[in-house]
Amino acid sequence: MDQVIKALAHEGRIRIIVAKTTNLVEKARTIHDTEPTASAAFGRLLSMSAIMGSMLKHPDEKITCSVRGDGPIVKMTAVANQTGQIKGFIGQPHVNFINETTKKLDVARAIGSGTLEVVKDMRLKSNFTSTIHLVSSEIGEDFAQFFTVSEQTPSAVSVGVLVGENKEVLASGAIVIQMMPGATEEDIIIAEHVVNHLKPVSTIIAEGQNPAEIAKALFEDVEILDDIDIQYACDCSRHRTRSALKLIDILDLKDMLLEDEQAEIICQFCKKQYLFNRDDLAEIIKEKIQFDENKKHSH
Ligand code: ZN
Repeated sequence: MDQVIKALAHEGRIRIIVAKTTNLVEKARTIHDTEPTASAAFGRLLSMSAIMGSMLKHPDEKITCSVRGDGPIVKMTAVANQTGQIKGFIGQPHVNFINETTKKLDVARAIGSGTLEVVKDMRLKSNFTSTIHLVSSEIGEDFAQFFTVSEQTPSAVSVGVLVGENKEVLASGAIVIQMMPGATEEDIIIAEHVVNHLKPVSTIIAEGQNPAEIAKALFEDVEILDDIDIQYACDCSRHRTRSALKLIDILDLKDMLLEDEQAEIICQFCKKQYLFNRDDLAEIIKEKIQFDENKKHSH
């Protein structure tokens, strides 16, 4: 079971968030057919988005994290809500670079230089958007920069995906350690020591520790506040896809009707196909004409 846990240490002056995302990232790999380096890059973004989602205040809020770069992946987006549903898409999934020196998956090269954009959709209130330049394009450092600069919360981030011989995701997760207001010089020194001696999070997860055990091993007085089950889940439906189709220009819809006699829409998050036949398209066009007529009369 994949999970995010939130915890405090040092009497609330240090916040710890740990995510285990192995199943979620493996599901994303099978849906999007990602090659190992793309799996690592996308998995890291999905894992960090799961953590960002857990920080939202209300169940109907959501957060969208997008990475754009000049590397071959081009763009990746992940969407998470507070109830643990995560989904995403990736521009080019067939990217696989191994760093010559470290022999590790070269995520930075696959992403290139670019930006990280975070959009918080708070439903009733207006959206909050924040964009930073990527620091290392390894995702972890970039989110650490985001927390520190955009949220004024000094943070350390460890995020990683372990990919197996057959391209399957063996372990994936993230750890975020944040200094809360009131953190002392001593808290910072201890936290830095913990971060500097941290094993890669994918290794810790591969060893079989769950998020609560991982958090408890970091500091002496860890108090677990909350745990959320998380999964890769898409909320698309035929109804919502039809609404999206209705936004297409009426001339293009008529082309679809006359030339293709159908419209096939594939959800970019889960690859589910929705087929609209002649009758469906004719009905949508009729509704659009009706809508335009009504608009004319109301003026
Ligand atoms: Zn979908």
